Amino acid sequence: MLHYSCDACKRPINTNTDIRHVVKIEVFPAIEDQVCGCHPEGDDADHLEDVQDLLERLDDHDDEDLDEATKSLRFDLCDECRRRFVRNPLGLKAGKKLGFSNN
Ligand SMILES: [Zn+2]
Repeated sequence: MLHYSCDACKRPINTNTDIRHVVKIEVFPAIEDQVCGCHPEGDDADHLEDVQDLLERLDDHDDEDLDEATKSLRFDLCDECRRRFVRNPLGLKAGKKLGFSNN
């Protein structure tokens, strides 16, 4: 039997009693944004040059930079951490704290 543990709280996940949640995060540069060329306004000359620049740079680098910029992450989470994660996936601090003290 495979043993899993939560990547957030390190608690072992007993798959007989707990549900193991898998979080997959993919990080990649949105190149299609640059290439689409569907700029609704402004003169396109500069923009097209930018695109060409970008494509050339991508050619030069043999995808290596792209690989580095592209990350696929995978985490196992216990139910508790899953709940916390979906509420705040990026771990950002909430602007306002609910409840507790309000002095
Ligand atoms: Zn956990």
